[in-house]
Amino acid sequence: MMDYMGSDVTVVNSARVSFGKKIPRGRIYLTEKDENLIKYLAKHKHMSPFGHCFATFHVKAPIFVARQLVKHKFLRWNEISRRYVDEEPEFYEPKTWRGRSKDKKQGSDGVVYPKAETDFIGYTSLRVYKELLEEGVAPEQARMVLPQNTMTEWYWSGSLDAFADMCNLRCASDTQYETRLVARSIGDQMKRLFPVSWPELVKVNGYQKEKLEDINKWEDANPVNQAWYDGDGGELFE
Ligand SMILES: Cc1cc2nc3c(=O)[nH]c(=O)nc-3n(C[C@H](O)[C@H](O)[C@H](O)COP(=O)(O)OP(=O)(O)OC[C@H]3O[C@@H](n4cnc5c(N)ncnc54)[C@H](O)[C@@H]3O)c2cc1C
Repeated sequence: MMDYMGSDVTVVNSARVSFGKKIPRGRIYLTEKDENLIKYLAKHKHMSPFGHCFATFHVKAPIFVARQLVKHKFLRWNEISRRYVDEEPEFYEPKTWRGRSKDKKQGSDGVVYPKAETDFIGYTSLRVYKELLEEGVAPEQARMVLPQNTMTEWYWSGSLDAFADMCNLRCASDTQYETRLVARSIGDQMKRLFPVSWPELVKVNGYQKEKLEDINKWEDANPVNQAWYDGDGGELFE
């Protein structure tokens, strides 16, 4: 989390302005009536009052995760550029390989132990990448040999309702595990900032009970690379 603006009080005041009313200045807690208003707004999809609250995250994740998350058009996105940066890249390395699911939409199921030489992740391409740079090739072209598990980072900003839309899709069980981790981390922080609004907006099955640690327990052998996610979200957000 880099920055945020607004609170549940902002949501209530934005809605009450229609009647020329607002929570008295200085009161930062919500009454039951205020909470019921937020519930009503979320239930009936009156989304505009949620659009006055904002947050900014600095996310670090593999390119294949970023490639999925960038599709959320209402969240503003500024990403590191390997045209300009040619420092040694970091790579996400799964500790286990998940099997192909019979249900295509589910993506993966169970664990497999492939004989294929998975050492290719990073190391071969890293060697070629460095050689190309040493031979004078421009970073904007040399980066073509880097794989999808290369780590990238971006600033991600948007309104409370836009982040909730993203989490409703990306915390669901049909979203790829690694992508869910990012969405869930953001969700956990948004819930702390907007404790009344967030649970009303994000209604994914099991979401309120599930915690980041539970997602990690989803596989005994955790495929998350500790280099980019250390279990408490601390590595994801600077
Ligand atoms: C499990 C899963 C699998 C996916 N698979 C694929 C895939 O195979 N290929 C692929 O390309 N994408 C895929 N996607 C991405 C998906 O198609 C959406 O692009 C992505 O989820 C962003 O959703 P969104 O457009 O609702 O989000 P946002 O862009 O954040 O939009 C939020 C909401 O704003 C409104 N809105 C957005 N844009 C407009 C507009 N131009 N005009 C009017 N209203 C608008 C809509 O109500 C929208 O729901 C997948 C997503 C998920 C969750």
